[in-house]
Amino acid sequence: MYLKQRVVENRLIGHPSQGIYKLVLSGQISKTAQPGQFLHIQVSATQDPLLRRPLSIAGINRVKEEVTIYYKVVGRGTDLLTRFKENDYISVLGPLGTGFTIPQKGELLLIAGGIGVFPLYSLIQAVDREQVKIHLFWGGENIDFLESADLKYILNTGVNLKISTMDGSLGHQGLVTDLLQAGIRDSGFADLNHNHLLAAAACGPKGMLKAAAEICLKNNIPLEVSLEERMACGIGACLGCVCTVKGEDGNLKRKRVCKEGPVLKAEEVVWDAKS
Ligand SMILES: Cc1cc2nc3c(=O)[nH]c(=O)nc-3n(C[C@H](O)[C@H](O)[C@H](O)COP(=O)(O)OP(=O)(O)OC[C@H]3O[C@@H](n4cnc5c(N)ncnc54)[C@H](O)[C@@H]3O)c2cc1C
Repeated sequence: MYLKQRVVENRLIGHPSQGIYKLVLSGQISKTAQPGQFLHIQVSATQDPLLRRPLSIAGINRVKEEVTIYYKVVGRGTDLLTRFKENDYISVLGPLGTGFTIPQKGELLLIAGGIGVFPLYSLIQAVDREQVKIHLFWGGENIDFLESADLKYILNTGVNLKISTMDGSLGHQGLVTDLLQAGIRDSGFADLNHNHLLAAAACGPKGMLKAAAEICLKNNIPLEVSLEERMACGIGACLGCVCTVKGEDGNLKRKRVCKEGPVLKAEEVVWDAKS
């Protein structure tokens, strides 16, 4: 559904070199939005660029009727988006796609690479924290990036946070999947897993998702992954964002990241497929 949403705020957060913005939109979308879904946003008031840009829903406030998005400026579309000011209206298509399963009890492992943490923010928000303990493994380039991607917000949520940076400026130096592996090895997750009380969700670069999938599946932990393919229509019509999955019958099939995804079961994704 195409909707005009009012801009409540659209501002750079953190270090200017990181180019990360927080966008809060007021309107109807908040009523039905689910964690892991995304919005397809028209980034300028004209038809140029023609294609909308997909951005994940990072926060949902049904009382205030607001949704929050975090975006990193990487090209022309996201740069144009920065120009919207408070009280401007943005044309938004959404909420779109299939989001995360929200666990009702037990423990939830979240694995995030870089800006892949953004869709996980809305999952953290939706989980009943009395019933579900959350462990977030988050990896980024350096401390500037993590702070700019709202590390403070994550610290305030009180999740059990394990951090890695590539340059060692904060937390473990190296890959976030090293932390995941160590976390699973050193914790008492095996019993929880046996009782189906452990689940995992991940978002980030494909290489990280593939490694997380291997670790989780080896430990029999059900993992959902949020994929980021480039997409055009956003509503399942153009097939521009298809990925290859293995069906229950073992045959390869295509799924549309914008429709059946972006969240898929890790075990069905064929990681090394050409498209
Ligand atoms: C379902 C989904 C949810 C997303 N959620 C977020 C989010 O919450 N926050 C956020 O900052 N970004 C998110 N992205 C990525 C975002 O859509 C792109 O960064 C954006 O469309 C780039 O537009 P642009 O015109 O600025 O850059 P372009 O000029 O189109 O591209 C600039 C560079 O970014 C790369 N790029 C563009 N789109 C993608 C993509 N989908 N995946 C990987 N690389 C890409 C291009 O290859 C190029 O190198 C999401 C993408 C998808 C598919």
